[in-house]
Amino acid sequence: ACGIVEADLTRHPGGRWLDYGTAARLLGCYGIQTAESIEADGPDSAAAAAVMIGLPVVLKATGPDLVHKSDVGGVRVGLGTPDEVGRAYREMASSIGPAMTGAVVQPVIEAGVEIIIGGVAHEAFGPLLMVGMGGVTAELLADHSFRVPPLGDQDTAAMIAELRCAPLLTGYRGRPCVDVAALRKQIAGVGRLLEDLPEVVELDLNPVIVTPAGAVAVDVRVRLA
Ligand code: ADP
Ligand code: MG
Repeated sequence: ACGIVEADLTRHPGGRWLDYGTAARLLGCYGIQTAESIEADGPDSAAAAAVMIGLPVVLKATGPDLVHKSDVGGVRVGLGTPDEVGRAYREMASSIGPAMTGAVVQPVIEAGVEIIIGGVAHEAFGPLLMVGMGGVTAELLADHSFRVPPLGDQDTAAMIAELRCAPLLTGYRGRPCVDVAALRKQIAGVGRLLEDLPEVVELDLNPVIVTPAGAVAVDVRVRLA
Protein backbone atom coordinates (compact mmCIF):
# COMPACT_ATOMS: atom_id res chain seq x y z
CA ALA A 1 0.00 0.00 0.00
CA CYS A 2 1.84 3.05 -1.33
CA GLY A 3 5.03 1.22 -0.26
CA ILE A 4 4.54 2.46 3.31
CA VAL A 5 4.37 -0.92 5.02
CA GLU A 6 7.25 -2.40 3.00
CA ALA A 7 9.45 0.63 3.69
CA ASP A 8 8.67 0.62 7.39
CA LEU A 9 9.30 -3.10 7.78
CA THR A 10 12.67 -2.67 6.07
CA ARG A 11 13.62 0.04 8.55
CA HIS A 12 12.12 -1.72 11.59
CA PRO A 13 12.18 -5.46 10.94
CA GLY A 14 10.86 -6.20 14.45
CA GLY A 15 7.60 -4.36 13.73
CA ARG A 16 6.21 -1.53 15.83
CA TRP A 17 3.54 1.18 16.09
CA LEU A 18 3.73 3.52 13.11
CA ASP A 19 4.20 7.18 13.94
CA TYR A 20 1.07 9.31 13.58
CA GLY A 21 1.82 10.78 10.16
CA THR A 22 2.79 7.44 8.62
CA ALA A 23 -0.32 5.76 10.00
CA ALA A 24 -2.51 8.53 8.59
CA ARG A 25 -0.86 8.23 5.15
CA LEU A 26 -1.36 4.46 5.11
CA LEU A 27 -5.05 4.87 5.98
CA GLY A 28 -5.35 7.50 3.26
CA CYS A 29 -4.19 4.92 0.69
CA TYR A 30 -7.38 2.98 1.53
CA GLY A 31 -9.65 6.00 1.28
CA ILE A 32 -10.00 6.32 5.06
CA GLN A 33 -10.54 9.97 6.01
CA THR A 34 -8.37 11.27 8.84
CA ALA A 35 -8.30 14.78 10.26
CA GLU A 36 -5.59 16.96 8.76
CA SER A 37 -2.62 16.71 11.17
CA ILE A 38 0.67 18.57 11.31
CA GLU A 39 3.41 17.18 13.52
CA ALA A 40 5.30 19.58 15.79
CA ASP A 41 8.38 19.10 17.94
CA GLY A 42 8.13 22.15 20.18
CA PRO A 43 5.93 25.08 21.24
CA ASP A 44 7.00 27.31 18.36
CA SER A 45 6.45 24.75 15.62
CA ALA A 46 3.09 23.86 17.23
CA ALA A 47 2.06 27.53 17.12
CA ALA A 48 3.17 27.78 13.48
CA ALA A 49 1.29 24.58 12.61
CA ALA A 50 -1.84 26.04 14.21
CA VAL A 51 -1.68 29.06 11.90
CA MET A 52 -1.30 26.79 8.87
CA ILE A 53 -4.26 24.61 9.92
CA GLY A 54 -6.43 27.60 10.86
CA LEU A 55 -7.51 28.45 14.39
CA PRO A 56 -9.03 27.18 16.59
CA VAL A 57 -7.08 23.92 16.78
CA VAL A 58 -6.60 20.76 18.80
CA LEU A 59 -3.16 20.02 20.26
CA LYS A 60 -2.28 16.41 21.15
CA ALA A 61 0.85 15.07 22.76
CA THR A 62 2.50 12.18 20.92
CA GLY A 63 5.10 9.63 21.96
CA PRO A 64 5.77 5.95 21.29
CA ASP A 65 4.37 4.91 24.68
CA LEU A 66 1.61 7.51 24.98
CA VAL A 67 -1.65 5.60 24.51
CA HIS A 68 -4.45 7.30 26.43
CA LYS A 69 -3.45 10.90 25.78
CA SER A 70 -6.47 12.56 27.38
CA ASP A 71 -5.89 10.64 30.64
CA VAL A 72 -2.60 12.49 31.11
CA GLY A 73 -3.73 15.94 29.96
CA GLY A 74 -2.37 15.34 26.47
CA VAL A 75 -5.40 16.56 24.47
CA ARG A 76 -6.46 20.23 24.38
CA VAL A 77 -9.45 21.07 22.18
CA GLY A 78 -10.31 24.59 20.96
CA LEU A 79 -7.05 26.54 21.34
CA GLY A 80 -7.82 29.94 19.81
CA THR A 81 -4.48 31.75 19.35
CA PRO A 82 -0.87 30.78 18.50
CA ASP A 83 0.16 31.89 22.02
CA GLU A 84 -2.39 29.58 23.59
CA VAL A 85 -1.06 26.71 21.47
CA GLY A 86 2.55 27.37 22.50
CA ARG A 87 1.56 27.63 26.16
CA ALA A 88 -0.50 24.42 25.98
CA TYR A 89 2.50 22.62 24.45
CA ARG A 90 4.76 23.73 27.31
CA GLU A 91 2.18 22.74 29.94
CA MET A 92 1.80 19.28 28.40
CA ALA A 93 5.56 18.79 28.11
CA SER A 94 6.10 19.64 31.77
CA SER A 95 3.21 17.55 33.10
CA ILE A 96 3.75 14.49 30.87
CA GLY A 97 7.55 14.50 30.89
CA PRO A 98 9.82 12.50 28.56
CA ALA A 99 6.97 10.20 27.41
CA MET A 100 5.95 13.17 25.23
CA THR A 101 8.27 13.32 22.24
CA GLY A 102 6.21 15.72 20.14
CA ALA A 103 2.66 16.70 19.28
CA VAL A 104 0.17 16.91 16.46
CA VAL A 105 -2.02 19.88 15.64
CA GLN A 106 -5.45 19.27 14.10
CA PRO A 107 -8.49 21.34 13.19
CA VAL A 108 -11.41 21.17 15.61
CA ILE A 109 -13.93 18.72 14.18
CA GLU A 110 -17.54 19.62 14.94
CA ALA A 111 -19.12 17.47 17.66
CA GLY A 112 -20.82 14.30 16.45
CA VAL A 113 -21.21 10.62 17.30
CA GLU A 114 -17.89 9.03 18.28
CA ILE A 115 -17.39 5.55 16.83
CA ILE A 116 -14.42 3.20 17.16
CA ILE A 117 -13.20 1.08 14.24
CA GLY A 118 -10.58 -1.46 15.23
CA GLY A 119 -8.69 -4.38 13.84
CA VAL A 120 -6.79 -7.20 15.46
CA ALA A 121 -5.02 -10.25 14.08
CA HIS A 122 -6.86 -13.08 15.83
CA GLU A 123 -4.88 -16.33 16.08
CA ALA A 124 -7.78 -18.50 14.92
CA PHE A 125 -9.76 -16.19 12.60
CA GLY A 126 -6.98 -14.07 11.09
CA PRO A 127 -7.78 -10.38 10.81
CA LEU A 128 -10.89 -9.36 12.73
CA LEU A 129 -12.65 -6.02 12.27
CA MET A 130 -14.50 -4.38 15.12
CA VAL A 131 -16.93 -1.45 15.12
CA GLY A 132 -18.25 0.04 18.32
CA MET A 133 -19.29 2.99 20.40
CA GLY A 134 -16.16 5.13 20.54
CA GLY A 135 -14.57 7.97 22.44
CA VAL A 136 -13.03 7.98 25.87
CA THR A 137 -15.95 5.99 27.36
CA ALA A 138 -15.75 3.20 24.74
CA GLU A 139 -14.33 0.60 27.12
CA LEU A 140 -17.00 1.36 29.69
CA LEU A 141 -19.91 0.72 27.35
CA ALA A 142 -18.53 -2.37 25.53
CA ASP A 143 -20.91 -1.98 22.57
CA HIS A 144 -19.20 -3.81 19.66
CA SER A 145 -19.80 -5.82 16.51
CA PHE A 146 -17.23 -7.99 14.72
CA ARG A 147 -16.65 -9.41 11.23
CA VAL A 148 -13.89 -11.32 9.46
CA PRO A 149 -12.86 -9.50 6.23
CA PRO A 150 -13.52 -9.42 3.33
CA LEU A 151 -16.64 -7.40 4.06
CA GLY A 152 -19.56 -7.44 1.65
CA ASP A 153 -21.46 -4.23 1.04
CA GLN A 154 -24.22 -5.29 3.45
CA ASP A 155 -21.74 -6.16 6.22
CA THR A 156 -20.88 -2.54 6.90
CA ALA A 157 -24.56 -1.69 7.34
CA ALA A 158 -25.18 -4.77 9.48
CA MET A 159 -22.21 -4.04 11.75
CA ILE A 160 -23.63 -0.59 12.47
CA ALA A 161 -27.21 -1.87 12.90
CA GLU A 162 -26.03 -4.42 15.49
CA LEU A 163 -24.74 -1.70 17.83
CA ARG A 164 -26.92 -0.66 20.75
CA CYS A 165 -25.77 2.92 20.04
CA ALA A 166 -27.02 2.75 16.40
CA PRO A 167 -30.08 4.97 17.10
CA LEU A 168 -27.68 7.82 17.96
CA LEU A 169 -26.76 7.91 14.26
CA THR A 170 -30.30 8.19 12.95
CA GLY A 171 -32.00 10.99 14.80
CA TYR A 172 -32.58 9.54 18.29
CA ARG A 173 -34.59 12.03 20.41
CA GLY A 174 -34.22 14.98 18.11
CA ARG A 175 -30.53 14.56 17.36
CA PRO A 176 -29.39 15.20 13.80
CA CYS A 177 -29.12 12.26 11.40
CA VAL A 178 -25.42 11.79 10.67
CA ASP A 179 -23.65 10.61 7.52
CA VAL A 180 -23.92 6.83 7.92
CA ALA A 181 -22.78 6.28 4.31
CA ALA A 182 -19.49 8.03 5.12
CA LEU A 183 -19.09 5.83 8.22
CA ARG A 184 -19.72 2.73 6.09
CA LYS A 185 -16.97 3.87 3.69
CA GLN A 186 -14.53 4.19 6.60
CA ILE A 187 -15.41 0.66 7.78
CA ALA A 188 -15.08 -0.76 4.26
CA GLY A 189 -11.66 0.90 3.87
CA VAL A 190 -10.41 -0.65 7.09
CA GLY A 191 -11.75 -4.03 5.92
CA ARG A 192 -9.75 -3.76 2.66
CA LEU A 193 -6.63 -2.68 4.54
CA LEU A 194 -6.80 -5.63 6.96
CA GLU A 195 -7.43 -8.05 4.11
CA ASP A 196 -4.50 -6.69 2.05
CA LEU A 197 -1.92 -6.28 4.78
CA PRO A 198 -1.45 -9.22 7.15
CA GLU A 199 1.54 -7.26 8.53
CA VAL A 200 -0.96 -4.98 10.28
CA VAL A 201 -1.59 -6.77 13.57
CA GLU A 202 -3.42 -4.00 15.39
CA LEU A 203 -5.31 -0.94 14.25
CA ASP A 204 -7.35 1.52 16.21
CA LEU A 205 -9.36 4.48 14.92
CA ASN A 206 -10.86 5.96 18.08
CA PRO A 207 -12.76 8.05 17.60
CA VAL A 208 -14.14 8.39 14.11
CA ILE A 209 -16.34 11.46 14.56
CA VAL A 210 -19.52 11.09 12.51
CA THR A 211 -21.52 14.26 11.77
CA PRO A 212 -24.17 15.22 9.22
CA ALA A 213 -21.23 16.37 7.03
CA GLY A 214 -19.15 13.16 7.03
CA ALA A 215 -16.98 10.81 9.07
CA VAL A 216 -13.38 11.57 10.02
CA ALA A 217 -10.89 9.71 12.22
CA VAL A 218 -9.13 12.03 14.68
CA ASP A 219 -7.03 9.45 16.58
CA VAL A 220 -5.34 6.62 14.69
CA ARG A 221 -2.89 3.90 15.68
CA VAL A 222 -1.48 1.14 13.48
CA ARG A 223 0.92 -1.61 14.66
CA LEU A 224 2.93 -3.80 12.34
CA ALA A 225 4.00 -7.33 13.24
P1 ADP B 1 -6.92 9.67 23.46
O1 ADP B 1 -7.82 8.60 22.96
O2 ADP B 1 -5.48 9.27 23.34
O3 ADP B 1 -7.25 10.16 24.81
P2 ADP B 1 -8.03 11.31 21.27
O4 ADP B 1 -7.20 11.85 20.17
O5 ADP B 1 -8.92 10.15 20.94
O6 ADP B 1 -7.06 10.96 22.49
O7 ADP B 1 -8.91 12.49 21.84
C1 ADP B 1 -9.78 12.33 22.95
C2 ADP B 1 -11.10 13.02 22.67
O8 ADP B 1 -10.88 14.38 22.30
C3 ADP B 1 -11.87 12.42 21.49
O9 ADP B 1 -12.67 11.32 21.90
C4 ADP B 1 -12.71 13.60 21.02
O10 ADP B 1 -13.86 13.75 21.82
C5 ADP B 1 -11.80 14.79 21.29
N1 ADP B 1 -11.05 15.16 20.07
C6 ADP B 1 -9.85 14.65 19.69
N2 ADP B 1 -9.45 15.19 18.52
C7 ADP B 1 -10.40 16.07 18.14
C8 ADP B 1 -10.57 16.96 17.01
N3 ADP B 1 -9.64 17.08 16.05
N4 ADP B 1 -11.69 17.72 16.98
C9 ADP B 1 -12.63 17.64 17.95
N5 ADP B 1 -12.53 16.84 19.02
C10 ADP B 1 -11.44 16.05 19.13
MG1 MG C 1 -8.57 8.10 21.15
